[in-house]
Amino acid sequence: MHEYVNKREYKRESCQALDLADELAPLRDAFHLPEKVIYLDGNSLGARPKAALARAQEVVAQEWGQDLIRSWNKAGWFDLPARLGDKLAPLVGAKAGEIVVTDSTSINLFKVLAGALQMQANQAATANRLVIVTERSNFPTDIYMAEGLTAWLDRGYRLRLVDAPEELPAAIDKDVALVMLTHINYRTGYQHDMRATSALAHAQGALIVWDLAHSAGAVPVDLHADGADFAVGCTYKYLNGGPGAPAFAWIPGRHQETFRQPLSGWWGHATPFAMAPQFAPTAGIRRALCGTQPIASLALVECGLEVFARTSMQAIRAKSLALTDLFIALLESRCAGHPLNIVTPREHERRGSQVSVAHPHGYAVMQALIARGVIGDYREPEIMRFGFTPLYTRFVDVWDAVDILKDILDNKKYDVTEQRVAVT
Ligand SMILES: *Cc1c(COP(=O)(O)O)cnc(C)c1O
Repeated sequence: MHEYVNKREYKRESCQALDLADELAPLRDAFHLPEKVIYLDGNSLGARPKAALARAQEVVAQEWGQDLIRSWNKAGWFDLPARLGDKLAPLVGAKAGEIVVTDSTSINLFKVLAGALQMQANQAATANRLVIVTERSNFPTDIYMAEGLTAWLDRGYRLRLVDAPEELPAAIDKDVALVMLTHINYRTGYQHDMRATSALAHAQGALIVWDLAHSAGAVPVDLHADGADFAVGCTYKYLNGGPGAPAFAWIPGRHQETFRQPLSGWWGHATPFAMAPQFAPTAGIRRALCGTQPIASLALVECGLEVFARTSMQAIRAKSLALTDLFIALLESRCAGHPLNIVTPREHERRGSQVSVAHPHGYAVMQALIARGVIGDYREPEIMRFGFTPLYTRFVDVWDAVDILKDILDNKKYDVTEQRVAVT
């Protein structure tokens, strides 16, 4: 992989040259991107693969419209969650038969947390452990799901919230049943060391659950090599599966036999069409399923995954770091003097595929950017998030985005009285 960015060159032409030399550049054509928009929010909702429109048409008109109920077998609807899981597996270092694409991240987290806690409760050595370690800065739904599950179980579980990654070694002790972490923080873009943290958990006899919402399709992940126990993640962010597309759950082969989850719907049954009055979990990853899947939405996930099959996570990562390095360098050179605070770590290993920038009027500045066609988003407190998705973001987009931001800041072209909208 060649060096993308010469940090001393800050010219639009040099960005154009980088685009010409970019081996991923042809993949941009696989996406529909609106005119006059620089889309830097693929970390929240990925862009639409062009193929998704034809696929939606096929699912609705042919598979549903013409083939009707026969499509469960004929079009492979029934197998779709596991078949998509196998396509996603190489992106996160999973094996075939270990992932299902299903439900939402929140719901998959519920199932995985419940299964993991039960595994610990069933073992004499860990049965008395009642602590779940996570971060206060974790995405709220992850904390809420753990709160909801443990309150419901009513066995005395409690959450131990750490305020910084450095506190994890002390927080993970012999009382801990489970460590639940989001690999890349949604707000700051901080990336945990999955291998070191998983080893910390295991050294104390705890299990570790990783949320890959901002990792899958964004950075190389190697779940097996890094010693993860369970993982969940999102398909509508970097994987470009479509708004509200089903999420995924990873149960490694070594845990599948002991893994049981409480949403024991008929899709997780060994013989769903035997219509037995008692639940018996099926062997393998399908036991992580609950009920009938949203086929139209699920089918579109494949269109995003097919783009990833044309490249490698190593190539994606190299370009991602080049894009984020360029953005940071341009902010520092062209927007110096403005109260911008880059909260995303500078070290490559600690960074995801976004750059988060705090500004006292972050919300108003982001609204001004969006009005000029530079779409990022805003997260409390004060943080403007810029996501860089190497499949369709060009180096020249980075240049132009900073150019517009510079104009907005230099000339105070933002309205501090801007009213908040429902989704920021
Ligand atoms: C985006 C995201 C979610 C979203 O969960 P949903 O159930 O899809 O709403 C959950 N956790 C993390 C860490 C996220 O970044």
